[in-house]
Amino acid sequence: VRRNPAETEFHQAVTEVLHSIQPALRRDPALRDARLLERLCEPERQTMFRVVWTDDSGAAHVNRGFRVGFSSALGPYKGGLRFHPTVNLGVVKFLAFEQIFKNALTGLGIGAGKGGADFDPSGRSDGEVMRFCQAYMTELYRHIGAQTDVPAGDIGVGSREIGYLFGQYKRITNRFETGTLTGKDLDIGGSLVRPEATGYGVVYFLEAMLAKRGQTLDGKTAVLSGSGNVAQHAIAKLQQMGATVVACSDSSGYVHDPEGIRPEVLAEVKQVRRRKLDAYAELVPSAEYIPGKAPWNVPCDIAVPSATQNELTEADAVTLVKNGLIAVAEGANMPCTPQALQVFQEAEVAFAPGKAANAGGVATSALEMQQNASRGRWAFAETDEKLAATMRDIHDTCLATADDYGQSGDYVTGANIAGFLKVTSAMNTLGLI
Ligand code: NDP
Repeated sequence: VRRNPAETEFHQAVTEVLHSIQPALRRDPALRDARLLERLCEPERQTMFRVVWTDDSGAAHVNRGFRVGFSSALGPYKGGLRFHPTVNLGVVKFLAFEQIFKNALTGLGIGAGKGGADFDPSGRSDGEVMRFCQAYMTELYRHIGAQTDVPAGDIGVGSREIGYLFGQYKRITNRFETGTLTGKDLDIGGSLVRPEATGYGVVYFLEAMLAKRGQTLDGKTAVLSGSGNVAQHAIAKLQQMGATVVACSDSSGYVHDPEGIRPEVLAEVKQVRRRKLDAYAELVPSAEYIPGKAPWNVPCDIAVPSATQNELTEADAVTLVKNGLIAVAEGANMPCTPQALQVFQEAEVAFAPGKAANAGGVATSALEMQQNASRGRWAFAETDEKLAATMRDIHDTCLATADDYGQSGDYVTGANIAGFLKVTSAMNTLGLI
């Protein structure tokens, strides 16, 4: 706290991990070496830079850009870019720190990084977003590369932004080096299934977690927060598997539709019209729009928070449990507060932490890197099957590790210890660097 003042989210993420790896530290004294933990919690590199761009009226704006390379023990830095007014160094460090364990769990040879800017894309024209992306990449390009650091999308950065970022990267470097960014459109070297991967992956994880309890998704009721990339594809996959998603949200409020949220309408509202969720209720007669509120008071069996960090509070958790909740899967990174997590654990709700449940996005980004390296493209079904297999594998690893350390069924402990052992083993192999 003294060395990194005001980085609240980063402190929260580190505290949670250090707390839950205690059984591993007790078992192996070598892991208690403070320098190992110190190195693990200190980013290898952090870059902050000025981004100057002009809006449609010609007025200049100044934003702050970030890229944190946290750990390259397992491969090139890998993690998304977030464009949102709440982005600051503490947020980027928390996301990059979480990424260490998530990427380790995929088993795909990727290190951990994260970046972004405090730019607010909402209400900005296409031209403004393009000029911002170009200005941002004009600094970022010197820090990234297929063997160094491979950014992707996150909040506020989808395939449109990745396209503009890659366009500027290509222009500056004079290289069509597709492996430098993932989440690209298909026509510039993207991978099938990457857009769907995080949302689908969350549902594959949920399916495996429920199977352990002798249950399936069929007939279940689900509530999601968010209505962006992760939420949209999680909704589509949940409904394919027989669940009904009765509510989802954005930063303005939520929609409740007892007949089930329609993913194609959501995509039209969000990607094409770029509107808030009140537009969804205008298009779907069975839906009601509730402004200014989170969706957690809507009764459900399954909750999938897929918007942002610390969005699901202790009070929300109490309400969900009272309404009969059986499972939570974090689509977003750290969306449940520590107090909410405690409520779920005490109520024996099956709980999938983000670093395991939402790892499908980065795993498929690694598959995109493989396809770029071989100049090939895999079919949708083949890539989807690799994603599903990876998610089942992560699920089984978390469960087996939790069991091994006497914390049966605790996916939080399982994910943290499994990721920690993998990355620290590589760090030891590499020596003191
Ligand atoms: P998007 O930008 O596509 O969507 C974000 C959604 O969350 C929007 O509906 C947005 O509402 C809402 N939201 C954002 N901030 C807030 C807030 N402060 N309060 C309430 N709602 C908010 O992002 P993604 O779907 O890509 O990302 C969502 C989460 O998933 C993030 O935590 C991200 O880190 C995580 N994640 C994403 C991955 C990916 O592949 N994209 C991979 C792994 C994790 P509005 O539109 O009104 O702003």
